[in-house]
Amino acid sequence: MKELRHLNKYFKKYWFKLLIGILITIVARIFQLVMPSFVKKSIEVVENYTRNDITEPLAKDLLLEYILIIIGAALLSGFFTFLMRQTIINVSRYIEFDLKNEIFDHYQLLNLSFYKRNRTGDLMNRISEDVGQVRLYAGPAIMYGMQTLTLFVCLIPLMFIKAPTIAFYSLLPLPILSVLIYQISKIIHKRSTKVQEYLSTLSTFAQESFSGVSVIKAYGLESQLNTEVELLANEGKTKSMDLAKVNAWFFPLMILLIGISNIFVIYIGGKQYINGEIASVGTIAEFILYVNMLTWPVAIVGWLTSIVQRAEASQKRINEFLQEEPEIKNTCIEPTPIKGSIEFKDVSFTYEDTNITALKHISFRIEEGETVAILGKTGSGKSTILDLIARLYDVSSGEVEIDDTPIKELNLDSLRSSIGAVPQDAFLFSDTIKNNIKFGKEDASDQEIISVAKQAVVHENIMGFSKKYHTILGERGITLSGGQKQRVSIARALIKDPEIFLFDDCLSAVDTETEEEILNNLKKAVHKKTTLIVSHRVSSAKNADKILVLEDGKILQQGTHNDLISQNGYYKELYFNQLSTKEN
Ligand code: ADP
Ligand code: MG
Repeated sequence: MKELRHLNKYFKKYWFKLLIGILITIVARIFQLVMPSFVKKSIEVVENYTRNDITEPLAKDLLLEYILIIIGAALLSGFFTFLMRQTIINVSRYIEFDLKNEIFDHYQLLNLSFYKRNRTGDLMNRISEDVGQVRLYAGPAIMYGMQTLTLFVCLIPLMFIKAPTIAFYSLLPLPILSVLIYQISKIIHKRSTKVQEYLSTLSTFAQESFSGVSVIKAYGLESQLNTEVELLANEGKTKSMDLAKVNAWFFPLMILLIGISNIFVIYIGGKQYINGEIASVGTIAEFILYVNMLTWPVAIVGWLTSIVQRAEASQKRINEFLQEEPEIKNTCIEPTPIKGSIEFKDVSFTYEDTNITALKHISFRIEEGETVAILGKTGSGKSTILDLIARLYDVSSGEVEIDDTPIKELNLDSLRSSIGAVPQDAFLFSDTIKNNIKFGKEDASDQEIISVAKQAVVHENIMGFSKKYHTILGERGITLSGGQKQRVSIARALIKDPEIFLFDDCLSAVDTETEEEILNNLKKAVHKKTTLIVSHRVSSAKNADKILVLEDGKILQQGTHNDLISQNGYYKELYFNQLSTKEN
């Protein structure tokens, strides 16, 4: 139960509702208990009438009265059962909601490295499947648990007071039922976990095939995939059949054991009646009803045990993630306005998961409002520099300073909201183009959206779509071309109007003429804003105030276009290479 203690804060939060729910549960059960004794009384009335102990009108009156009481108790019990579900099950839904939010908020605090270590499916499972298991504990388990407890506490002593021998024998099969149900629930759980695992394999497989459908068609892999799907489907069939087989045991077993209890009641009760040890046949009817009232709660005890165990296991998985400390911590509570000068002081950075040292003793300074281009081969560390500025990672050694303050001393929200980043893989959400651009500024007006789209030279393209700005993008923006995606991402960064722009190779899929146009627009738009442009084209770099050439995590050359063109080296080579390809 240690792991489940995490939920105590939520139980505290909803203690009043829970208490009411528990009281209602007790009341509902007590009304239910009234019924069997009136069934007994009704039968006794009939008995007395046949023995001519009471007159016909009196018997009719008594019967009518008892029947009305039974109906009334049933209605009240039903009504309170309804209220009970309304309160306790609702509380469990509130707790589910809170817990999901807690997990999601925590996910958002965690670093990129956390997301590299854990698979997306796993993250999703903990927030959906595992929270669902925990909810069963927080609601149904409490509700049925209370219900069972109330019945046991009230009913079992009552049965022993009324007819101890019948009570003893009729209760005998019930513990066996409880243990059996517990065992079956465990097997059911094991097998249904297998089915679930299978389903997630299947959906991963399906998702990958659908998103890679163009590759599959181009390589003619359809029949191969069909075979794989068939294998998977067969596996699923076996696992589901296994599950169905144990499931099938559940109710027959229950009915069998109820039957045994009933036989005991009738046999022992009948014998006692013949021997005159009990006064009326009504007692037998009463006990049959008691036994039937008890079976479900007894079965539930077995079920509850397995629910609690599962909830414990799920909460353990959830806690593992909740206890994960964000490595990047916001140490400054006060907002810190950012102007935009950036300095790297002897910065080295090693990716923990691959142990690749992506940056080695990098030092440079960018003044507020300057534009700096970073050039270099793939893998030279360009994107890493931008990630360090946005503090997606913390340096391994050295210091990154913004406005001459170490980046760790800045308020993280202030820092991130002053940065407009266009990442290399231009990620777009599957939403309208308009909302994708607005992502940079929630309250942006339509004019603003159009204006940034024009600056990013994507307005014409968007107007060409039949739904214009309301076009819904496919997953990861697949309905757009690579260049269009990049330009929508640029628009998204522009609308944010931040102090620092980070463009990570975001014009790579755009032709040189459009690139030229965008760069010109950017020059106006980002005027006086610190701007870093990562590129592998000299054309993107040559107008920058400063150019850094990276190689293998080190700065190879730095200076203006004219400085670098006069030195022999990577930049000059690249410049003349690209110049000649352009002329061809
Ligand atoms: P560039 O943007 O210049 O292509 P990067 O900064 O992306 O280069 O990468 C620099 C080096 O760091 C590469 O060797 C790359 O393999 C490694 N690297 C980049 N990102 C990660 C990551 N998230 N985890 C581990 N290694 C990484
Ligand atoms: Mg890169």
